[in-house]
Amino acid sequence: MDARRLACLDAMGLPAWSRRADRVLPGAPEPHVQPADSGVSALPQPVAPGTEPTVASLDWAALEARVSACTLCGLHAGRTRTVFGVGNRSADLLIVGEAPGAEEDRRGEPFVGRAGKLLDAMLAALRHSRAQVYIANVVKCRPPENRDPHAEEADRCAPYLDRQIELLQPRVILAVGRVAAQRLLADDAPVGRLRGKVHRYGAAGIPLVVTWHPAYLLRRPGAKAEAWRDLVLAAGAMALNGRLEQGA
Ligand code: URA
Repeated sequence: MDARRLACLDAMGLPAWSRRADRVLPGAPEPHVQPADSGVSALPQPVAPGTEPTVASLDWAALEARVSACTLCGLHAGRTRTVFGVGNRSADLLIVGEAPGAEEDRRGEPFVGRAGKLLDAMLAALRHSRAQVYIANVVKCRPPENRDPHAEEADRCAPYLDRQIELLQPRVILAVGRVAAQRLLADDAPVGRLRGKVHRYGAAGIPLVVTWHPAYLLRRPGAKAEAWRDLVLAAGAMALNGRLEQGA
């Protein structure tokens, strides 16, 4: 797989990616993997109505606590647990999915069902593990019957993902599936048209690559070759972004 990966990168004229040692930002928390069953690290403190700090000002711990107490949309009523996100909070690669399914709702961790196993395999092909990357969803609570999140639900949840991205400052974002792609790019084109190129996200212009959702790949294994090309594209964008950051 290594030789194939290198050959793919080489064929695209892209350098093989290696991790940068100095990724931790000044003042940022130590990189760590959030255990799936760790619960909420800070108990909610009583605050006077209307005086809560804005989501955009929260650190990781306060953000996670805010999400776990969130009742901003109807999805909170049906959840077992919120699914905040998991992985390395200094990761170069952020993977954004759609919403928790049944297994994720039960365990409080994104992508732990069958689609998650395939995502892990895709990461392994890139020589990454889920402990190295950060994985989050557009929506933090499970929609009933695993339906797509409604626009209003995604709108209510959006500040949480926005803040996660700000805190993380990834080198590249991989949006898996239509809901994540359309939401992050504010574009209603189908995945088939959004994938295969490097987009830019937000004011910082973070490179963003779209690929098929692993659940779709389970139904249509023939699309895995395209997903692999998308991953190679993301790895190349990540390497390039790291080189630019370093002034090369
Ligand atoms: N699908 C997603 O988009 N996210 C998950 O966490 C699980 C399945």
